[in-house]
Amino acid sequence: MSRYIATRAIRGANALVTEAEWMLRKALAEKGPDTPVAFPNTAYYLPLILGMTGRQVETIGQLEPVLQHARTLLHPVPAEKNWTPYLGETLDSGMATLLAAEAIEAIRFAYGLQPEPVSGFHRAGGTAFTSPENGAGGKSTDGHLNGPIDDIQLRSWGIQLVDGRMPGFAAIVGAAKSNEVAVKIVRELQRRNILCFLSGNVNGRSIIQQLVEEGVELGYDTYTVPFGTDTLSAIYALGFATRSALTFGGMKGGMARDILLYNKERVFAFVLALGEVDDLKYAAAAGAINFGFPVIADTIIPEILPTGVTTYEHVVSVPFNEIEGADDLERAERLVQKCIEVRGVKVRLADVPVPVAYGSAFEGEVVRKADMRIEFGGKYSRCFEYLHMAELDDVTDGKVEIVGPGFESVSPQGHMDMGIVIKAAGRAMQKDFEPVLERQIHHFINGASGIQHIGQRDIAWIRISNSAADKGFNLEHFGKILHARFHADFGAIVDKVQVTIYTEPDKIQAWLSKARGAYDFRNKRLADLVDGAVDEFYSCTLCQSFAPNHVCIVSPERLGLCGAYNWLDCKASYSINPTGPNQPIKLGAALDPVKGYWTGLNDYAKSGSHGAVQTVAMYSIMENPMTACGCFESIVMLIPEVNGVMVVSREDTSMTPAGMTFSTLAGMAGGGLQTPGVMGVGKFYLISPKFISADGGFKRVVWMSSTLKETMADELKAVAIREGDPDLIDKIADERHVTTVEQLLAWLEEHNHPALVMDPIF
Ligand code: SF4
Ligand code: ZN
Repeated sequence: MSRYIATRAIRGANALVTEAEWMLRKALAEKGPDTPVAFPNTAYYLPLILGMTGRQVETIGQLEPVLQHARTLLHPVPAEKNWTPYLGETLDSGMATLLAAEAIEAIRFAYGLQPEPVSGFHRAGGTAFTSPENGAGGKSTDGHLNGPIDDIQLRSWGIQLVDGRMPGFAAIVGAAKSNEVAVKIVRELQRRNILCFLSGNVNGRSIIQQLVEEGVELGYDTYTVPFGTDTLSAIYALGFATRSALTFGGMKGGMARDILLYNKERVFAFVLALGEVDDLKYAAAAGAINFGFPVIADTIIPEILPTGVTTYEHVVSVPFNEIEGADDLERAERLVQKCIEVRGVKVRLADVPVPVAYGSAFEGEVVRKADMRIEFGGKYSRCFEYLHMAELDDVTDGKVEIVGPGFESVSPQGHMDMGIVIKAAGRAMQKDFEPVLERQIHHFINGASGIQHIGQRDIAWIRISNSAADKGFNLEHFGKILHARFHADFGAIVDKVQVTIYTEPDKIQAWLSKARGAYDFRNKRLADLVDGAVDEFYSCTLCQSFAPNHVCIVSPERLGLCGAYNWLDCKASYSINPTGPNQPIKLGAALDPVKGYWTGLNDYAKSGSHGAVQTVAMYSIMENPMTACGCFESIVMLIPEVNGVMVVSREDTSMTPAGMTFSTLAGMAGGGLQTPGVMGVGKFYLISPKFISADGGFKRVVWMSSTLKETMADELKAVAIREGDPDLIDKIADERHVTTVEQLLAWLEEHNHPALVMDPIF
């Protein structure tokens, strides 16, 4: 243990706690103890303070005991002589620093100083921040940096964190040697799907500015979150880490030791300190080490060798100019590799031979009309994609054929028709897997930087940006991507993949009608695939790495609550990986077909949940409902006053008649425990005939987020007809008209909602 680091971290911690105390006194005097403090869109109060101390801080006054506690963790700065540096004191100081940092940010929120405004940033190439209308962008467009991450975003990344698509996060603090190096570092991390949390500065210069100046698109969609340009905002990374343990690990506030160990073992994060390291950065780094996150600095600092708090070294110095490499870009690449080694991050990388960067971090990228070279599909042209199974001898693996002209002769920002036809063969391939594999085309193609893919089947819509086209991206590359990714991700069922890209009109027509025939066939197959027609369901335990006792039980008529796994997906996944997270569950004897009890299912529920759940009813929310991890697309919750249930979408941030928003409800629904009356579900379960069928089915829905009504309008219409009440959807209230139980009751009476006259739900 280095005395130098201990000295500086302890000094930094003392200074910060003193500053926090001063700010608190000022805030108490100016605003009063009852003034609320909160981070936006989270149910976890001030998450680090909640996790580490169990305190649910909601007011300025409640910060007092937190800072008193922080002060008790401080130690005197080591004397010049006769002092044995001790790691524990440094770690304590680190924890004090984190508590003080979060308290300060909370006070800044109360003063409207967080999130940080971006005014004064010079932006190259237009908006560099992902905007909400282009997907799940952060709050960065209203002239602010991101600040802390939303619970919703945390959960939506959850599945990727769980299934390994997203190995972890890098908390980058400071500024890189040059803008070029900053971009390279972030690109290297994005390529590996590692989240980049950006904060801090060196002499007023921040990596956030560097990236913005280079026109790098920052936001949730591109895995790059600008927290703030000071070191303190790095606290949001540790708040994120704490919430991961609370959300997915089923831990409670105050379980500090468990939360820290959880992060050490399951969250592959590290701190990358770019540029000079001052006292505060040393202190914050000591805080991160508590979580098992090592610190890598690109300057000369003393190192801390392994003691077990992190997996390998605690602090590693990799002086940038001493890294071997032909130029700075190569040095940047090596630096990132070093970080990954030190943390032991598990990275899965498919080698995709395209002339642009490739990785899931680019999936959310948007190609705007002005940056577009060409599009296929959309308003002016047709694009379809079709994957079908073929005999092994019929497929030439790796062959990519273009039938028809390329897009060279199409004028800039033009369009053309295209069909992508994939032949897949393999000994373990089944016809049922065609739609499962076909759906991956969207992710695979989107992974290429500068390519945007929307939709599927015959409403696919693909754009190629000017920059991708300039780098030489052409039609053949679609085939190369698909070939590489199907082998990498589905090698267990697919042995050979051949791709043909059609641009010739006659051929497109011919293949389009074949494809439509197949789509129809699949639709019918899905319609016939009911729970009663199979003798096994599937388990999904993918989320157990985060929520140790949660199991999703996936049946043909009830998909996983994250919406990402239906029965066919699970079946395919089982074929790919027979010892993996999706196992067939033999149903055994039906105990109660209405509520959905089977002997085999109960047995499995017990063992799969490690005893946390004894019995599970597939079709009831009131009795032994299925548990939830935290990934659910929607929450269904009983509203006892009106004899029905409401359905809240993850995208809906407004107030519900239950007096809680989605974030707060999510805290009740998740955690792997059975809570009668509350259930997290995949949104397509809503339209299933088996949706809470034991409790009266879809007619129980009295309130529903308008986004669900809009995005699933056709499907819901069909449900209303099926339920014998064609106007049912119009009788269901939403947040535009109704936000309290009183209003809800009035609405339901006025609209004659059937739930009011149904049997009591309990
Ligand atoms: Fe997690 Fe359930 Fe989705 Fe599986 S189906 S990934 S367990 S939420
Ligand atoms: Zn989950």
